[in-house]
Amino acid sequence: MGRYLDDLETQSMQMRAERQSRLLADMVRRGYERSHRVRAIFDESGLSPADIRSVSDLERLPVINRERIVRMEEEEPPYGGLADVSARIERIFTSPGPVYEPHLNSDDPLWARAYKAAGFGPGDIVLNAFSYHMVAAGLTFHGGLVRVGATVVPSGTSPAHQQVQLIKDLKVTGYTGTPSFLMAIIDKANEMGYDFARDFSLRRAAFAAEPLQPSLRGRFERDFGIDTYQMYGATEVGDVAYECREKNGWHLCEEVIVEIVDPETGKPLGPGELGEVVVTRLNPIFFLFRFGTGDLSRLTDAPCPCGRTSLRLEGIAGRVGEAVKVRGMFVAPSQVKRLTDMFPGIVVQLVVSRSGTRDVLTARIDASGAGPASTGLAERFEKAFQEVCTVRLDRLELVEPGTLAADAKPLLDERTWE
Ligand SMILES: [Zn+2]
Repeated sequence: MGRYLDDLETQSMQMRAERQSRLLADMVRRGYERSHRVRAIFDESGLSPADIRSVSDLERLPVINRERIVRMEEEEPPYGGLADVSARIERIFTSPGPVYEPHLNSDDPLWARAYKAAGFGPGDIVLNAFSYHMVAAGLTFHGGLVRVGATVVPSGTSPAHQQVQLIKDLKVTGYTGTPSFLMAIIDKANEMGYDFARDFSLRRAAFAAEPLQPSLRGRFERDFGIDTYQMYGATEVGDVAYECREKNGWHLCEEVIVEIVDPETGKPLGPGELGEVVVTRLNPIFFLFRFGTGDLSRLTDAPCPCGRTSLRLEGIAGRVGEAVKVRGMFVAPSQVKRLTDMFPGIVVQLVVSRSGTRDVLTARIDASGAGPASTGLAERFEKAFQEVCTVRLDRLELVEPGTLAADAKPLLDERTWE
């Protein structure tokens, strides 16, 4: 096996767009034929199936968020009329809501792209610590691991001491689950008298369902010799994106169309702009178009040295409700935090105010902890700011040392709306 799951990962952007447009048009036709809910959505939007022929036509359909799915499923259990119930459905999962999700036994390589990119393969024995009970996680991650040739230990949410026993007895080489649970397992192993890095063979981990904090990642990699990877998806749409060995953004899966949209209007934004991640999974039974994840991110189209040609998501910058719109661009508190991390010892607070009809963006910086590193700070900060937040700063105020506490609110919106 090569470095990629298949050659879709290295196809040209144009081929990808053509393939996805064709699959989208099929899904639209099928959905319109088999789901009265899809028909109703199209009718309300004044559209016919022929109007959605390509990825760029998608924006004509409304974004559907989780609350809306829950309402639809309440009105019409179990799938809100969004599924083809005449299809052979292999499994039905639930997630809190409740939301019911039909899964078809198909050739969809759910999560396999992520595991392949993380280097999992034949010879690996992988602990799958995602829950197998009711929810989609356990079984779908399991399927992805099997697909890349790994052996899976379906340990699920068993207690940490049992996971340690399995890691030791089965000479487990990999882990998939949440980062916090792996840390709990490592702590338990230490408590049981083991030296995790010395006594065990676990050298690779692929995480999902929880953000991987850089400090925790550093500990896994440095202290325990575990190579770590992030995977991103949502229970409603499956896998969405994954990290490659470059660990610089998450490649989009070939089975999904991902848009970054303005959460207020649902209109797609360009590469580099922060907005809501909206996902359409190309599939023949569950006709969920434009699922609004509520997560904020940006897309980059910069080429990746790994050779994959898909666009990449730049991590998750927060949830839609946390962001504020400044001169048409969204800024999230996590972006301000990221800037703080780039300049050790400083505390940053971003203030959005209004002058007439114009938004004014001020960065207040307390550089008391930066020492000599504060030379030329303003200039470097402004540059980094534009890079991280896309919008331009209007003012930079170096405040009296000690003015901002380390836990000061990163983003203040002082605009009043009349
Ligand atoms: Zn890459």
